[in-house]
Amino acid sequence: MTASLAVFFLGGTIGMAGHRDGVVQRLGGDALLAAVPQLAGLDATIRAHDFRAMPSACLTFDDILALVAAAEDAVAEGATGIIVVQGTDTIEETAFGIDLVWPHEPPMVVTGAMRNPTLPGADGPANLLAAAQVAGDPQFAGLGCLVVLNDQVHAAQRVRKTHSASPAAFTSPDTGPLGHLVEGVPMLLARPSGRTCVPRPASTADVRVALVTLTLDDDGGLLTGIAARYAGLVVAGFGVGHAPAALAEPLGQLARRMPVVLASRTGAGSVFRHTYGFPGSETDLRKRGLIAAGFLDPYKARVLLRLLLAGGADTAAVADTFAAVGGPSFGGTE
Ligand code: ASP
Repeated sequence: MTASLAVFFLGGTIGMAGHRDGVVQRLGGDALLAAVPQLAGLDATIRAHDFRAMPSACLTFDDILALVAAAEDAVAEGATGIIVVQGTDTIEETAFGIDLVWPHEPPMVVTGAMRNPTLPGADGPANLLAAAQVAGDPQFAGLGCLVVLNDQVHAAQRVRKTHSASPAAFTSPDTGPLGHLVEGVPMLLARPSGRTCVPRPASTADVRVALVTLTLDDDGGLLTGIAARYAGLVVAGFGVGHAPAALAEPLGQLARRMPVVLASRTGAGSVFRHTYGFPGSETDLRKRGLIAAGFLDPYKARVLLRLLLAGGADTAAVADTFAAVGGPSFGGTE
């Protein structure tokens, strides 16, 4: 069956070119598609949508919610796959946000480029072609949001940007990629262990969620006054979810006023539930009401918490959802 692909361009390095101070946004969707003549060889119709044109550091949650709504319209009009082209800097957050509110069968495939089009070895055209090959392949239906760069297919829930500049910047530290492109053929080697979708809020604009990374000899200064300014907090703790003993009580007090999620700042692995017993340990913090993020890294935990709070979830619902998404069966409070 001929695939029908809708490609949404949001900006990023893939479309940036020369300016006296460095590269800036230049190329729109039609120009980027024209740079990949191999797309014409696919059994697919492709429709470009110039949706935003900005570095991905400037994207907002509401941009992503609007993108999902526009993608739903495209699916209603017959699209069998969606491609999102954006800056790579925030893909690990935007893709996860999309995944959480995308219950539909057609896959959403996010891609971009690490090298801009003025550089030798620019990777944008290859990534765009690979994204189209994946989005047009029925074996990826129902897998939610996927991230395709460097001939690899990653689950949005697991992928991280783990290098500032390499074309191989995207990795999935806990699982590895779901699949690879081999001679232009997408191969799915593993399926995600389960996805949980949450209701799509109309907007997140009024809901602020803080992320505080704990550091050596942390005096907790960044926690002061946080409850008055934010609706929720993600704490990126040490190791398996640890804080200095002196911060255990302030964190517990915050957790009595708003959802406080405990993640690991290490970049891979899950927080623990009940191994260490000292003040400030994961066991202590969970007893004080902090919610374990499971395998979700701090950035992804913040995306989930903000979407949940914008949708009106209370602390119990937040804990239940983190148990499901961060798991398997691993999140929640004691
Ligand atoms: N600064 C760029 C962005 O995220 C980086 C990229 O596209 O790779 O928009």
